[in-house]
Amino acid sequence: MQVPRTLDEFYREFPDEEACWRAVRQMRWPHGFVCPRCGQRGSHRLRTRRLDQCRACRHQVSPTAGTIFHRTRVPLRTWLLAIFFVARHKKGISALQLQRDTGLGSYQTAWTMLHKLRSALGHRPEFRLTGLVEADETYVGGATTGGKRGRGAPNKTLVAGAVERRENSAGSLRLAVVPIPSREELGGFVRGMIDARQATVLTDGWQAYEHLASSGVKHRPQVQGPPARAAKILPWIHTVFSNLKTWLRGTFHGVSGKHLPRYLQEFSYRFDRRARESELFHFVLRRAVRGAPISYARLTAEAVG
Ligand SMILES: [Zn+2]
Repeated sequence: MQVPRTLDEFYREFPDEEACWRAVRQMRWPHGFVCPRCGQRGSHRLRTRRLDQCRACRHQVSPTAGTIFHRTRVPLRTWLLAIFFVARHKKGISALQLQRDTGLGSYQTAWTMLHKLRSALGHRPEFRLTGLVEADETYVGGATTGGKRGRGAPNKTLVAGAVERRENSAGSLRLAVVPIPSREELGGFVRGMIDARQATVLTDGWQAYEHLASSGVKHRPQVQGPPARAAKILPWIHTVFSNLKTWLRGTFHGVSGKHLPRYLQEFSYRFDRRARESELFHFVLRRAVRGAPISYARLTAEAVG
């Protein structure tokens, strides 16, 4: 598959629904069909019904079964177009914009598609942060003026972040919603994201991080002065938080705390692949094909945390 860079290339690569099914099928079974029921290789393609039938046990499988596209009523070509927009727009795309650009009949459908895609963009837990890691937390959303500042603010959602500090740039990023700024929550987040043998964690001098060293984490708290100095002590995580807030406001005009975790996944996913933007379409499509199905009911029922 050629990774489309322009809309013109997209339509040439995916001229019709059949081409999209072929691409998804190829990604699902890159080394040929493997039956999910009996494990045998080889299938007959039932083209008109877009199913593969196992040669051994005759089990019929859709290439989209068990993927993000599971039982979707949206044409695959619209899905691939959505992935194209997500991949090609540096700042992503809102549900309203997607609805307009694809001519989808319903906002809810566009919203659901984007959240299903985001649900497949989580970091892989086996990849842990190493080297120097800046960790901090921030409040996102809610009232931007008039509320209390600092560590405790109404209608805001607490986000913990950790990012690798490399020579002249940042490495990989992890973000998560945490319910309260306690040492259990913030310490647990940091411990869960780093490779403790290969990471040294840099934080400000706040007490929630004090116990990190006693739990086996190499920890270098930095004495903090005024807020301007905090940005110098932990430059990368401060930049990340600032860009995250600009992104949430600019592209989505703010998001609810309830759905924030999936936006954080998209943001971190983009951040970690910012040097490979041209390949993003392929990466996101692969995630979608390998991702687990998630229903609208579950997308809307998920709680913060
Ligand atoms: Zn079979």
